Order: sequence, then C-alpha cells, then structure tokens
Amino acid sequence: MANLTRQDWEARAADLQIEGRAFINGNYVDAVSGKTLPNNRSSTGQAFVDIASCGTEDADLAVSAARDSFESGVWSKKAPAERKAVLLEWARLFAANWEELALLESLDTGKPIACTMDDDGGDVHSAIRTTQWSAEAIDKIYDEVAPSPDETLALVTHVPVGVVAAITPWNYPLATTAWKLAPALGAGNSVVMKPATNTPLTAIRIAGLARQAGLPDGVLNVITGPGALLGEHLGRHMDVDCVTFTGSTPVGKKLMIYSGESNLKRIYNELGGKSANIVFPDADLDKAAARQCAAIFFNSGQTCTAGSRLLVHEDVHDEFVAKVIEQATNWLPGDPMDPATLIGPCIDERQCNTVADYVRIGLEEDGATLALGGKRLEVTPGGHYFEPTIFTDVSNDMRIAQEEIFGPVLVVIRFGTTDEAIAIANDSIYGLAGGVWTNDLATAHKVAAGVRTGNMNVNTYFACDNQITMPFGGFRQTGNGIDKSMHAFDDYTEIKSVFFDFRS
Ligand code: NAD
Repeated sequence: MANLTRQDWEARAADLQIEGRAFINGNYVDAVSGKTLPNNRSSTGQAFVDIASCGTEDADLAVSAARDSFESGVWSKKAPAERKAVLLEWARLFAANWEELALLESLDTGKPIACTMDDDGGDVHSAIRTTQWSAEAIDKIYDEVAPSPDETLALVTHVPVGVVAAITPWNYPLATTAWKLAPALGAGNSVVMKPATNTPLTAIRIAGLARQAGLPDGVLNVITGPGALLGEHLGRHMDVDCVTFTGSTPVGKKLMIYSGESNLKRIYNELGGKSANIVFPDADLDKAAARQCAAIFFNSGQTCTAGSRLLVHEDVHDEFVAKVIEQATNWLPGDPMDPATLIGPCIDERQCNTVADYVRIGLEEDGATLALGGKRLEVTPGGHYFEPTIFTDVSNDMRIAQEEIFGPVLVVIRFGTTDEAIAIANDSIYGLAGGVWTNDLATAHKVAAGVRTGNMNVNTYFACDNQITMPFGGFRQTGNGIDKSMHAFDDYTEIKSVFFDFRS
C-alpha cells in the first residue's frame, strides 16, 4: 500500500464489481418490488452504486429463511468444532479479500483508505480478528453442572436464542457487523443483518464470503434499503427472538418499545456517548494532547467512544489547551483515497449540517469560546468535510457538552479537584467511554472507578475499543448490550436448566 497513490486507489475503485443486492437464503436477490436506492460517496456526494431497496416483504422472507434454517438444525445443532471451522474459513476469506473490503468500506463511509487497510486495528483487521477470536472460543465454552441431591443431575446449559436481527450504524459498518455476527453465529443462531441505509456494501460482500466458507443457506441474510422501515419491521417482528443494535439512543429507545408492543424479544442496545477525557497536572501532557486529538478527531469525530469532552485541571489548563490546539492541525481532513489522509469527510450532508448547527449553538451559548475551526472545508468537490473544532470556556450544562454532536468538535471544561472531575464526567445521560491521565496511581484508580462508564482508559484513549478480549458496552442511556470478549456470547444465548431424577 505504501507505494500506491490516490490515482491508483481511484483506478482500483473504478474496477470494482460492487454487489448491491440483498442476500436472502443463500442467494443475492433484488428487492421483491425491484426498487433500488442510490448509494453516495461521502467524499463527492455522488452516487456510485445502486442498492436493493428492500421492503417489509423482503424482511419477512429473510426472517423466514433464518427461522427455517434455525429450526432445521443445519447450523444450530452443528458440533461447535464444525461451526468454528466455518467461521475460521470466513475470517480467512476476509483476509484474502482485504483490499476489496477496505476499498468498499472507504467508498461507502468516506473513511481514509489508510484506516480501512490498517493492519493494526483498522476496519478489515478488526473484522478478521473478531471473527477468528469468536470462532476459536466456540469449542472451548463449557456449561455447568449445578449442585443437586444424590442420584440426580442438574445441568445448566447455554442454548442459542434463535433468530437474531442485527442492526448496525454507518460509522464502523464492517467492524460493528463482525462484533455482532461472529458471536451470534458462533453460538448457533441464524441472523438477519440490517446494515445502515447508506453503508451496506461490506455486509453484502461478507454474506457471499460466508456462503463460500460453508455457512448453510438461510443462516445469514442481509437486507438493505430504508433503515427506519426495515429496522422497525424487524423490531416488531413476532418471529425475531433478539435484536442486537448499535446506533443512536433515540432509536435504541424505540426498539425497546417495539419489543414491548410485540413479542418481548431481547433488545441489546449499544448507543451514544459523550465521553470525558480527564487530564491532571502530573500527566505526560504532550502524549495526552496527541491522544486527545485522536480521541476526538479520528473518523471525523464520528465514533461512539470519542473523547468529546476534555476535562482539564485548572493548573495546566492554558498550557494543555495550547498543546491540543497545536496538535489539532495534524488532523485536517483530506481525500480518503489519498494514502496520507488521516481523516476524511463526515458521512453525508445531513451530518455535516448537524455539526455546523452545533457550532452555531456553541457560539450562542453564554461564555463558550470558539478556540479553533468551526467551518466546513472544501477538500474534494461535493464532499462533506468539517475542520477540527475546539470550544473552550465550556460549562457542562451547555448543550455542546451534553449532546452527542458526532463530529470533530471538542469541548473543553476546567476542573479544580478530583471529585469535581468525576462529578462532571458523570453529569451525562451517557456512560460509554472515558480517559484519565495522571501518574498518580491512587488518582487513576479513584477516577477509573468513579466514572460511570463501560470503558475507561488510563494514560491512553481508544485502547478498550481495540481489545477484542475486553467486553465493550455502556452504562445508562448508552444501553445494555455487550460486544466482544466471551461476554458477547451471553447476548445470543438463553440459559436452560435441565434436572434429571434417577431415584427410584
Ligand atoms: P441511527 O440510530 O440513526 O441508526 C442506526 C441503525 O438503526 C441504522 O441501521 C438505521 O438504519 C437503523 N434505524 C433507523 N431508524 C430505525 C428505527 N426506527 N427502528 C429500527 N432501526 C432504525 O444511528 P447512526 O446515525 O447510524 O449511528 C450513529 C449513532 O450510533 C451514534 O449515536 C453513535 O454513538 C452510535 N454508535 C454506538 C456504538 C456503540 O457501540 N455504543 C458504536 C457505533 C455507533
């Protein structure tokens, strides 16, 4: 990749044969209605491929294929070692098609090719690692024998939940898809996958690779098209047993209503965040400033775990903010097909406008100072770029400190004591991630324990996100789901007790 230029990547993109159809019961199919939707590139705003615009009838076909395959036992009753072999082969095929998957993800999301190709935590790498890791786990999970009287046997087993609907967002489509599919399929479920409306390409592609790897027909289905319509239909479907969802808090709340109004299916929500990165005076300020910029500007701030609130101790506030502003200039967006680009555009015009709206709100809020950026940028014609933006003199009750902007906008809040920092961090409806920077072990422990959040980083940021071995989930209105690690299997299994009585 080092030797490839922007022109080389564009040429490769032009040569791609892109599949835009849904994948139902082992076949690529058009929507029953024959309708399609244009899919646009974030870097140009131009359509580059048509996607099947599925309706409820296609969703029903997918659910029914999933149900039939589940009940047949063709996958759900396969020996764990056999399921493992199929998933390992699937991961091998991801690796064999690395460049194609990376290009699809870049074209679909506007993510820089350097990020999607990155072999240390990039999108394709993350999907491979997640799938391999979950596959390797399948034949190493033991059930329990509970204490019981003599001549009896009390078994506690984990059984697949049945038909799982997986609904994913547009910001990390391939990675979040793998986070859900690997444990859901590994546990023996059948799945209907519904990617975000505007980023379905990698999900469509890996479904074909699953067939090639030996996954039986109907076990994995992918439906594409209008997300709210299809998502609500799956959420209300009487034959779906579980929805695993990553997306916004408002949609996660709706899914819980759909479930309550239908069959009480399990809903696992991985939702929004407004995470605090807390810097104490004794920290390595240069390292902390560099990492703070990555924490908010990577993927143009479109990361659920983004360190979007910077809490700085008053003793080093001015010095540290100056360092962050200086470092921020390294995070100017560029053309995603240029291998030197670190961040690309926002996903679409609507998201870019949302970011601009929040900048306006920040400017209107009493006391906040725009210290850097604040404007859209023209990088490639028609692209949706926004410059790194920093507000200082922010108080935590301002809207820009409370609401998830999902763009490259950092708000800086001053604090005086450790207790105050913890209280500010916790004054949020969310609880997804966070960071603390200090060389004092006691302070690190106190803050890591005190912040009500699912993922806490000490003297780093985004570290939890990249560890497949650690559970990933949030507290409060970030939801109740767990992706990654052995704990992910809990979302996709029921616990079943069986009591044997051998007494005469
Ligand atoms: P979104 O909630 O708008 O959409 C997410 C998915 O839900 C998409 O597939 C969409 O088509 C579908 N959807 C939309 N309306 C629906 C409805 N009424 N019923 C069912 N499904 C529906 O979110 P987004 O804009 O795609 O993604 C950004 C959000 O995702 C942010 O809030 C971000 O924090 C969150 N996110 C969370 C995590 C995490 O692990 N906690 C990871 C990535 C993104």
